Amino acid sequence: MKEFSAHESTNLMYRHAREMGLETVFDRHEAQQPQCGFGMQGVCCQLCSHGPCRISFNAKRGICGATADTIVSRNLVRLATHGVAAYSHHLEELARTVKAVSEGRSPFEIQDESKLRRTAALFGLDPGRPVKDLAGAVADLLISEMRKDSREPLALVRLLAPVSRQEIWDKAGITPGGVLSEIRDALTKSMTSINTDPMDLLLTTLRLSIAAGYMGLVGTITVQDILLGTPSVVHSRADLGILDRDTVNILAHGHVPLMATAVLKAAEEESLRELAAGAGAKGIKVYGSMCTGQELMQRSGSSASGFAGQLGNWLNQEYIVATGAIDLVMMDMNCSTPGLKQTADAFHTKLVSVDRVVRMEGVDTHVDYSPEDADKQARQLVAMAIEAFQGRRGHPFIPTSQASVVAGFSVEAIQDALGGSFGPLLEAIEAGSIKGIAAVVGCTNTRNGHDSKGLAIMKELMKNDVLVLSAGCMSSAAQMGSLMCPEALQGAGSGLREVGEALGVPPVLNFGSCVDIGRIGVAVTSLALAMGVDPSRLPVVVSAPEYLEQKAVVDGVFAVAFGLLTHLGPIPPVTGSPLVTKVLTQDIEGLTGGRVLVEEDPLKAARAMVDHIEEKRLSLGAR
Ligand code: SF4
Ligand code: SF4
Repeated sequence: MKEFSAHESTNLMYRHAREMGLETVFDRHEAQQPQCGFGMQGVCCQLCSHGPCRISFNAKRGICGATADTIVSRNLVRLATHGVAAYSHHLEELARTVKAVSEGRSPFEIQDESKLRRTAALFGLDPGRPVKDLAGAVADLLISEMRKDSREPLALVRLLAPVSRQEIWDKAGITPGGVLSEIRDALTKSMTSINTDPMDLLLTTLRLSIAAGYMGLVGTITVQDILLGTPSVVHSRADLGILDRDTVNILAHGHVPLMATAVLKAAEEESLRELAAGAGAKGIKVYGSMCTGQELMQRSGSSASGFAGQLGNWLNQEYIVATGAIDLVMMDMNCSTPGLKQTADAFHTKLVSVDRVVRMEGVDTHVDYSPEDADKQARQLVAMAIEAFQGRRGHPFIPTSQASVVAGFSVEAIQDALGGSFGPLLEAIEAGSIKGIAAVVGCTNTRNGHDSKGLAIMKELMKNDVLVLSAGCMSSAAQMGSLMCPEALQGAGSGLREVGEALGVPPVLNFGSCVDIGRIGVAVTSLALAMGVDPSRLPVVVSAPEYLEQKAVVDGVFAVAFGLLTHLGPIPPVTGSPLVTKVLTQDIEGLTGGRVLVEEDPLKAARAMVDHIEEKRLSLGAR
């Protein structure tokens, strides 16, 4: 049988599901072949009822006269707008929670007071004010930043972006204002026959990506750290083999870790433990999948203590449930696929949406997160899981694979490990023991083979002494592929191995969820400042080797806007436009210093990234 995944456990579960007569994601991928060439190239438009129009050799324009360049760039704006909107939802849920904490209306507590005071000082607030008062003021500021006009530059860009970047963005007219106004402008522009200029639409995409970078990524991680604690280095476990068949098992699934953090706390309560024991369970465990799992793992030394480990990324979700050992899946924002319901129906597993925007056909239990009621809601979810446990059918089928993981590499944790500053890392880069840094981030994708290309790229980069930072589903890929443990240094080049062994860190550092790509931006900014150069001059590259959805689109464009070479796989839906393809892969370098690298072959992609790193080293005069 065809192997779709880089992981033995996933392939085993796929075969198991087939034997049970279950159709899962890899079957549906096969059923969709061959996929539509017009869609692949981005030249399909359905914006008005003249359409759908598609650009072909015989029809060079849509019925309204739109060219392939207009259609492709307009589609790109719409993808990016979706991404920014979802990031804004995440940030708003957090800011709302911090505000409720500040008014004593929520059971959460501020976990990182020092980051709160630093952030407040950055915003020009008196950092000496009482914690709750300050937390409320920071939440208010973030909410008003989101809502301000698109003509007023975002404060976070002005306060945090390197000055050299701001100059470039100001000159190009792509410094964004309030995120919600940017979304309004972008959706208005990309309506039928309002803005049909492909260059202006591309600049709009860049502008959206910077809004996402500073509000959706950096803003979100900052407030998430203030509320839930800044990640610190922890040891954890990953893959399906960590599942315990004898406990009540809850899966935290999505991106916003608020409800999951409350559920971890509730799972410790004596009354619920007794209830679970009465149902015949040996305990209650909370596991993670996708990005919520990464958020919990990196805080398992603090607000997420008790976290049982990461079971996989978005392509694993049906296979995790198909073990028959998951009693309840709490679906927070993003990436719970409709196919999950079909699989859950074959078992006893209860699906519950825990975010007001998440709904799934056939799922009628909603415990929509509310900052005020989080404790009560968490207890309700644990009780539901215990009830579901009692309805288990037959014996769980659990693969044995498992991997040990070191996680929690926030910028602060890395600086601590390096003795307080990035100095030792810069010295290692200058001396050539570490040639450069590659952020291998984002989703995973059936078109690329589950995690295969991402893992191949990471291994090749490590071999070439490139330190890899990972976030999002690529973090799960690296965890299940045993690249996030010190033993993985055996596969690294001698320079990286030596540095890793001296510091006791793996060659692939876990930066967390896809939102935590913002941490990579913060780290690159710190390196650029320490070296006194613009980020585009650093030996740093980005790869989203299996990007999937709209948030990943804005992440990728943000990396280009930030001045970095950005590898994307699979090929994004732009190739139907010669103009857009040329701008993104070549011309944009003259504007931002970054560009898109499109290469489907993982080894060739890694080679191109290493060559780019070498060029940057040469231009900096490094050895
Ligand atoms: S907006 Fe133009 S290209 Fe799009 S469907 Fe309508 S007529 Fe066709
Ligand atoms: S990295 Fe992408 S696919 Fe994975 S959970 Fe986040 S958004 Fe979803």
